[in-house]
Amino acid sequence: MNEELISRLTEDLKASRLTVVLTGAGVSVESGIPPFRGKGGLWERFDPMEVAHIDAFMRNPARVWDLLLREMHHLLNRVRPGTSHQGLARLEEAGYLSTVITQNVDGLHQAAGNTDVIEFHGSFARQLCLDCGKQIPTTLVSLETLPPRCSCGGILRPDCVFFGEMIPPQALERSFQLAEACNLMLVVGTSAVVQPVASLPGVAKSTGAKVVEINQEPTPLSARVADYSLFGEAGKILGQVAAGLPPRGRRH
Ligand code: NAD
Ligand code: ZN
Repeated sequence: MNEELISRLTEDLKASRLTVVLTGAGVSVESGIPPFRGKGGLWERFDPMEVAHIDAFMRNPARVWDLLLREMHHLLNRVRPGTSHQGLARLEEAGYLSTVITQNVDGLHQAAGNTDVIEFHGSFARQLCLDCGKQIPTTLVSLETLPPRCSCGGILRPDCVFFGEMIPPQALERSFQLAEACNLMLVVGTSAVVQPVASLPGVAKSTGAKVVEINQEPTPLSARVADYSLFGEAGKILGQVAAGLPPRGRRH
């Protein structure tokens, strides 16, 4: 069944002048980073509002570092791009993809070679001091005592968007502009339930773009927004799609 849809997506990519991709935690599962929802997701183990909400962090930073952030710190120092990231980098390289809008905070799209990546939920690569505002690369932060602290004594927090926080205004604005302007939006490995990012495919659709989804399982987009969905492993599907596309020069 996917063979036919893979050819259809290949043709749609060839026909599109401006293609953007929206990615979620599913593209990084293969790299060893657990998603939030779905099989093996972190939320089988704890309540998101308890650990990933800004109020929870401000109430007890040591606890949130201990439950959620310590593991991310450990993982992100080690992970490498997987076949999904590589497939998307090949699509850009071949001239079929302009921008990656990602909900992920792991930096793996950039590591794979995509050059225009909007980090909608910020990045775990940097930590911010709550007192003096200094930015510190996460790799330089020691977790010997929690929460980690800045040299000024202030508590460090990741430069990510917690639940209950605003999306960085530039990322928000540019993402909605691209959703309106694109001809094709590819939505890969996201459960598409976290707002406001989950509304981007609907905006793209309502302004005339095609929306194509790649996910292991149906999502709220599958029935209502996507023109069609390819169900399966994103890495495999993107690899097949990229293999079917000859280079057409850098930007389109
Ligand atoms: P999610 O965890 O809610 O959903 C993951 C989706 O990926 C599911 O729909 C699942 O079916 C799909 N999936 C899993 N493996 C897949 C595969 N191999 N191929 C195709 N699809 C696959 O993720 P989300 O929608 O991105 O929302 C989670 C939020 O948590 C995001 O906003 C993000 O900020 C954050 N988060 C980030 C990371 C990361 O940086 N890698 C990891 C976990 C959560
Ligand atoms: Zn400080």
